Amino acid sequence: MATDYYQIDDLLSEEHKLIRQTVRDFVNQDIKPVIDEMAQNHTDIPDLMPKLGAIGALGPYIPEEYGGAGLDQISYGLIMQELEAGDSAVRSSASVQSSLVMFPIYTFGSEEQKRKYLPKLATGEMIGCFGLTEPNHGSNPSGMETRIVDKGSHYLLNGAKMWITNSPIADIAVVWARDEEGKVRGVIAERGMKGFSTPETHNKWSLRASKTGELVFENVEIPKENLLPGVHSLRGPLSCLDSARYGIAWGVVGAAIDCYETALKYALERNQFGKPIASFQLQQKKLAEFVTEITKAQLLVWRLGTLKNEGKASGAQISMAKRNNVRMAIDIARESRQILGGMGIVGDYPMMRHAANLESVITYEGTHDVHLLITGNDITGINAFK
Ligand SMILES: Cc1cc2nc3c(=O)[nH]c(=O)nc-3n(C[C@H](O)[C@H](O)[C@H](O)COP(=O)(O)OP(=O)(O)OC[C@H]3O[C@@H](n4cnc5c(N)ncnc54)[C@H](O)[C@@H]3O)c2cc1C
Repeated sequence: MATDYYQIDDLLSEEHKLIRQTVRDFVNQDIKPVIDEMAQNHTDIPDLMPKLGAIGALGPYIPEEYGGAGLDQISYGLIMQELEAGDSAVRSSASVQSSLVMFPIYTFGSEEQKRKYLPKLATGEMIGCFGLTEPNHGSNPSGMETRIVDKGSHYLLNGAKMWITNSPIADIAVVWARDEEGKVRGVIAERGMKGFSTPETHNKWSLRASKTGELVFENVEIPKENLLPGVHSLRGPLSCLDSARYGIAWGVVGAAIDCYETALKYALERNQFGKPIASFQLQQKKLAEFVTEITKAQLLVWRLGTLKNEGKASGAQISMAKRNNVRMAIDIARESRQILGGMGIVGDYPMMRHAANLESVITYEGTHDVHLLITGNDITGINAFK
């Protein structure tokens, strides 16, 4: 993981580079040696969350007083990039915990909620998940059917969420539901609450080293103190998605670099017709295009990170980066696999795993098409969603 064709490293601080190296070392030692077996066997990585907590990868931008590391957005991006070079499942776990669980509790939660949950989420002692998508409402979360009703002493939660990362192993779920007035509210459901279950989704061909499941609520009594006081509309969950999408735009650069560097090395070592396959123009075209696309993606997220640090990154700018970079990464994963010929289909090399993972990444947190419509809406002022 050294690809830096435009000397973007010169734009990073020493602290950024140190953080990146810490995560890179973790991925090389703890993820890369086991990830193929975990993905092939459809099992999650043992003790992943405490390990991510130990290297500061959970809620890195959350202030230190709540257990975070108080880092900037470029640091967050670099952490996501290194983790996804290992596997999208690892980055997904860190993304969800950081941007979809810690971020809403920090941004919309009460002081008691922040003190109760954030420090344990930051260490990985507690695992969280985020429930927005429903069986009948994916790209259009405003159709949400999950409901909370105020019963005086508590809220009664009913409904179902699906495709929820880490739901089968989560201790808590940040759940989005409409109240009696039709307003979108957020509540924290805890494992063990009566009527709350988390069935696992089996047989995935993608993100196989990550658990995915449902959240089912049948008359679950949610204590009043578990309502996030700061959210009264869909803008709340959408702001979480902006943060997570930003991390994805960085993360997939890591997956693309892993594929590119593997293909470059292989092409230089593999001989056919008496010379390295890297000497053939068709293979050079592929490799040259990979590094060009990676470089463009790196510049995009670096600039987005500086805008985010200044509080100036718009949701539409984040959509553009998520869409562009995921497409870039999935294209490189597929094309680079071909450079390895038959060897490209076995688990000794990462391309098939990255390509399969990226099929989820191109769909979740807003599909490829939906992000195009966000850009279209932004530049024309015309909403083409409906
Ligand atoms: C592995 C995985 C993990 C996930 N983790 C989470 C999680 O942790 N929490 C969570 O809440 N959700 C999660 N999701 C859900 C994910 O965000 C949704 O799958 C995604 O938003 C798309 O919704 P859908 O699957 O219902 O597809 P649909 O919304 O049914 O879309 C199907 C197709 O129709 C297209 N489409 C939809 N509307 C339009 C339109 N207006 N114009 C043009 N085309 C349109 C889409 O682009 C897509 O190609 C996860 C999904 C996966 C696969």
